[in-house]
Amino acid sequence: MKTIGILGGMSYESTAFYYKIINEEVNRRLGGLHSAKILLSSVDFDEIKKMQNDGNWTEAAAVLSAEAKKLQNAGADFIIISTNTMHKVAPEIAQNISVPLLHIAGPTARKIKEDGLKKIGLLGTKFTMEHNFYTDILRREGLEILTPDAAQRETVHNIIFDELCKGVVKNSSRKKYLEIIDSLKERGAEGVILGCTEICMLLKTASLPLYDTTAIHAKEAAHEALK
Ligand code: GLU
Repeated sequence: MKTIGILGGMSYESTAFYYKIINEEVNRRLGGLHSAKILLSSVDFDEIKKMQNDGNWTEAAAVLSAEAKKLQNAGADFIIISTNTMHKVAPEIAQNISVPLLHIAGPTARKIKEDGLKKIGLLGTKFTMEHNFYTDILRREGLEILTPDAAQRETVHNIIFDELCKGVVKNSSRKKYLEIIDSLKERGAEGVILGCTEICMLLKTASLPLYDTTAIHAKEAAHEALK
């Protein structure tokens, strides 16, 4: 079994899901008391959040690259970043390590295409919805991406950072997300990517099929570890 290196803590809430899902998947596949071989580098998210807000992606890339190297040196066979947003600096991180980086968007696009869908809504942080590092990859895979309107994007973003990253799950926020998904459906979306690794705390079902990047990415990591 390969050792998985997780770059996590962004937020700690979602990293805990990765830990559980990866172990559950390895145990499901191998049985007995088998569990995953995992190394975790968990950063102080407040420091990273400041870099995001300042647009200081260069420093964020340097910090996460240094952590990825530590994971590699400690024996990780491949690396995953347990946040969609910080894949903005995935190319820089990948350049700084010699082990593979398992990107979150690849398996997500593959699953959507397997289901035969094409027009997909995307929910995530404003960075993920508005910068093109993430949508470009999905579009290159042949998907048509719909993002919520500006006011809705603000709502989605604020609920992530003000509530979900702190473990706060509110019914009122769930209702707002469901309404936003309904409006994406009216615009023609056939499914929705939960493109932020905390949204699974808020939503399990909606008026459209949901593609939870946390579960998809974590399971892909487990499968890669067992290849
Ligand atoms: N975990 C979130 C994501 O998947 C947001 C936290 C972050 O900005 O990294 O994008």
